[in-house]
Amino acid sequence: MVSRRLLLGALMGVAAPAIAFAEGEGGSPSLLTKKGRRTAHALKHQATDKAALDKALATVKPVTPEPAHAPAAAEAMAISPDEALGRLKHGNAIFARGGANISLPSMARVAELSKGQKPFAVIIGCSDSRAAPELIFDCNLGELFVVRVAGSTVSREGLGSIVYAVEHLGAPLIVVLGHTKCGAVGAAVDVATKHAELHGALYEMVLPILPAVLEAEEQHPADLQDAAIRQNVRDIARRLKVADGTLAERVEEGRLKVVSACYDLTTGTVAFDA
Ligand SMILES: [Zn+2]
Repeated sequence: MVSRRLLLGALMGVAAPAIAFAEGEGGSPSLLTKKGRRTAHALKHQATDKAALDKALATVKPVTPEPAHAPAAAEAMAISPDEALGRLKHGNAIFARGGANISLPSMARVAELSKGQKPFAVIIGCSDSRAAPELIFDCNLGELFVVRVAGSTVSREGLGSIVYAVEHLGAPLIVVLGHTKCGAVGAAVDVATKHAELHGALYEMVLPILPAVLEAEEQHPADLQDAAIRQNVRDIARRLKVADGTLAERVEEGRLKVVSACYDLTTGTVAFDA
């Protein structure tokens, strides 16, 4: 039996706003002011009160990054959320009919990308080796900002990564991508329905998926695992829209779209919920 406390903890996994984007590698600038960092540090100790956390987070001001580290958001916004979605659909259609461009980028292109990135979409995907976003959407370096964890779930650090891509790189689209036969969701189904026991980190990986399994179970589907896979990405997409002030504001203004989708391992096609 899954306790209410565990389920709430799982839900908070994505519902809790990101406190701060971690200090970048190689001396990248912090995205928070000193005051912001202090505030963020203090907030970590108040994470049990989500309402207070949300209110306090509104006072944390991000610092605009130097142009040398990230291109202007306005430049990346040259593409609309719907145009970005269209590019993904088009790319997947090419992939699914076997015509994907698998050529590697030239070194000139690699060098050009070193000056900055402006990915047109954020993909939250499963770690599954058969569902690599760049391949199934026929994309290349610099086009997709990808966050991958088995089960396509979003940790607080993952949320910070997503906010970074939207706020500082100007990505106009977030796709929460599940896939058929997802083993992580299958494990969550076994935990919820057969009391399967997973140890340590494996259990923590499955925990955020359990609410979707229970939700799907209420519909009495013929295939619970498949229903839970689709429920899981829909739930994550819905919660992402309000999990952070920046995301919520951009969604409200029509500058950002958050959609769920499911990749079919057999046909190579991605079915979008939008
Ligand atoms: Zn998976």
